[in-house]
Amino acid sequence: MDSPSDKAFPQLIEAVRKVCAEVAAAQAPDVDAKARFPIETLAALREWHVLSAAVPAQFGGAGCTMQQLAQICATVAQSCASSAMVLAMHYIQVACIARHGTDSEYFHGYLRDLVRRQYLLASMTSEVGTFGDTRSSVCAVTRSAGRFRLDKDATTGSYCAHADAILVTARRDESAAKSDQVLVLVRREDCTLSQTTSWDTLGMRGTCSPGFKLVSSGDEAQILPGAFADCSAQTMVPYSHILWAALWWGIAAGAVAKAAQFVRGQARQTPGTMPPTAGRLAEVSVQLQTLKQNWVAAARDFDDLGDGAHAREELLSMAWALRLNSLKIACSDQSPEIVQRALRIVGILGYKNDSPFALGRHLRDALSGALMISNDRIAAKNASMLLVHKEAA
Ligand SMILES: Cc1cc2nc3c(=O)[nH]c(=O)nc-3n(C[C@H](O)[C@H](O)[C@H](O)COP(=O)(O)OP(=O)(O)OC[C@H]3O[C@@H](n4cnc5c(N)ncnc54)[C@H](O)[C@@H]3O)c2cc1C
Repeated sequence: MDSPSDKAFPQLIEAVRKVCAEVAAAQAPDVDAKARFPIETLAALREWHVLSAAVPAQFGGAGCTMQQLAQICATVAQSCASSAMVLAMHYIQVACIARHGTDSEYFHGYLRDLVRRQYLLASMTSEVGTFGDTRSSVCAVTRSAGRFRLDKDATTGSYCAHADAILVTARRDESAAKSDQVLVLVRREDCTLSQTTSWDTLGMRGTCSPGFKLVSSGDEAQILPGAFADCSAQTMVPYSHILWAALWWGIAAGAVAKAAQFVRGQARQTPGTMPPTAGRLAEVSVQLQTLKQNWVAAARDFDDLGDGAHAREELLSMAWALRLNSLKIACSDQSPEIVQRALRIVGILGYKNDSPFALGRHLRDALSGALMISNDRIAAKNASMLLVHKEAA
């Protein structure tokens, strides 16, 4: 069956390509050099209503499928990985609201406002004292007279200072266990953010992700219904791992495109002779294609599941958890490998920061993938699941 976005998507992806060619690619070196937020790219994406691509059509959004959102993220990543990461993280938050706020009038209204105003949503799962484990929180929501209060000391908060709202994980209440979490929509006007650390990193510099102390309050209706445990397994993890995999592929594809351009230039200089780099370009293209098949297949299978009770149950299964974890590990490991192979093809012109073939930013950005929810942490979870999971892969 066609998705509601099938008509709108060709126009949307064309707009995204235009933004990439005219804005994102041109701004990316400056965004990286100054570790500044990609303001121009996000403004252009807002103008084309790309920020509401993940909002269901019933609330006025494009209602894009996972495959379509992944294609958008992969496209942006070829020009500016930081912008693609901002967009992917935003889509993940929108999906959490759209899929878990279905019974809430407040969240219906919020999604409509998001479409109108092209709100940008950030995420705050990390916290001092939880050591990179998104499924546990120290901070807790307190409630009184229909209002909540929530303070959090986050280690990393991408573009929080530029977002219209932040989705924050916290314990359900002060007596709850560290894994008994809820997700709370904190609006920018309802909070104060005090920056606690810097963001002078190797890569993904434009995501502007320092630590923040958050002090917030708001209406109780802003607490997403249900347990974060379900939201995490059914939405946050699948959207994160598939959209991130697509964008890590996009970084690698951008690097291979530069290598291909370089090899074609060499071929033109020596007509009739195959440049020695052409063989290596063919080899790296195989790896790039394999990586693409991995996220495309996961996105397609996710879409094919649909969104009924059975699909939600399936997403809680070990089979899906293992598959998504393996996708994340494979794609984040392979992306920098491919960029490095592209760098070897281009040689010194790829190593120089001021050359049109520069690949330093691609490599530095791609290296963040394995750290962003540590691959070791994910591999350890897979190892313990595989001790009991007996189904064939
Ligand atoms: C570009 C970028 C953007 C980010 N944006 C956000 C954001 O917007 N919001 C947010 O909340 N967070 C964000 N994060 C943080 C991220 O989600 C994680 O919280 C963070 O990457 C965890 O980092 P860590 O290395 O300190 O923690 P850990 O996962 O504790 O890892 C520390 C070390 O321990 C090792 N280790 C951990 N577990 C195991 C294990 N079981 N076996 C063996 N070794 C193990 C790891 O390999 C690593 O060497 C971002 C991170 C990046 C890189």
